[in-house]
Amino acid sequence: MRDMDNRNGLISMNLDMKIYYSIFLCIAFVSVSVKAQEDILLKDYDPVSIYNTPSTKVSKAKFPAVDFHSHPYPKSEQEISEWVKTMDRTGVAKSIILTYQTGKSFDSIVNLYSKYGDRFELWCGFDFTGYEEKGWSKRAVKELERCFKMGAKGVGELGDKGFGFFYSKPTPAEGMHADDDRMKPLWEKCGELGMPVSIHVADPMWMYEPMDVHNDGLMNAYKWRIDTTREGLLTHAELITTLENAVRENPKTTFIACHFANCSYDLDILGRLLDKYDNMYADISARYAETAAVPRYTKRFYEKYQDKLVYGTDMGTDPEMYELTFRILESEDEHFYDKNISSYHWSFNGLGLSDEVLKKVYSENAKKILD
Ligand SMILES: [Zn+2]
Repeated sequence: MRDMDNRNGLISMNLDMKIYYSIFLCIAFVSVSVKAQEDILLKDYDPVSIYNTPSTKVSKAKFPAVDFHSHPYPKSEQEISEWVKTMDRTGVAKSIILTYQTGKSFDSIVNLYSKYGDRFELWCGFDFTGYEEKGWSKRAVKELERCFKMGAKGVGELGDKGFGFFYSKPTPAEGMHADDDRMKPLWEKCGELGMPVSIHVADPMWMYEPMDVHNDGLMNAYKWRIDTTREGLLTHAELITTLENAVRENPKTTFIACHFANCSYDLDILGRLLDKYDNMYADISARYAETAAVPRYTKRFYEKYQDKLVYGTDMGTDPEMYELTFRILESEDEHFYDKNISSYHWSFNGLGLSDEVLKKVYSENAKKILD
């Protein structure tokens, strides 16, 4: 009996210990998860979708595509031939290469790509050298005509995020915007030569917003943030107005506003311009992340403006990059992440565009502009 009691005593002691141990584990677990919640930095947050919903691999565009927004990423013959193979596999019939360049740099790109015929189209930049000196417009027009003779089929990418044509190469033109009087002869010459213009104005709205806890797209916005404290910056709305002025004043020149004119936060702004101006289009490049977050609204926009949007990438030459763009345009997949194209922490959704819309966006609208 005694032994028994002793044994019982031992058992009950073990039970107590087990209970204490369990309580300890619970507390430890709770404190670890609370700690995690308090300590995980937004930059480290890397969620993985656990939804067991359809995941579609789209290896090839449903219809042959013209990529309206690419750059001369490959630097050698070998890299270009790899790119052509990727284009074949992914169904990209043609890439428009926005070189930014003029002069010798443009000519050397022409030489590098010339053997691929119509797989590539090379667009030149404007030469802004001496843009503050008298007679600049005339000189720049002359260089434009020279590039045209060298084979430039259009102009781009011009870029103004608020301080003027600042990231234009080879020379930036700080303080000069699309509606500057000095630009007028260039826009007119483009119209005369049948050279469309690819122009990037502003940036997504998140980049102009305060970098604080309320910024909806903080992690990506911070990377691309605009210095709003610097003097001379035009606001997002003012930038759109400079574009609108140029488009309105040069009806014979075709303008392609890059990246939905950076109005992905409010596509109605772009819609109003597309309604108004026959000589204006928009490319959809590098704004997949922004638009895949609001798929129903975006799909309605594509349907309404199916005659005015052109496919584009602006994100390198990897096959996976092309596949992601097709997945977003064609599939109805929901809540998937991709950290390769942005650092937004939100998930993407496919738009499930109709064949009619896809055909136009992938190539029919491009033909209207290029022919
Ligand atoms: Zn670009």
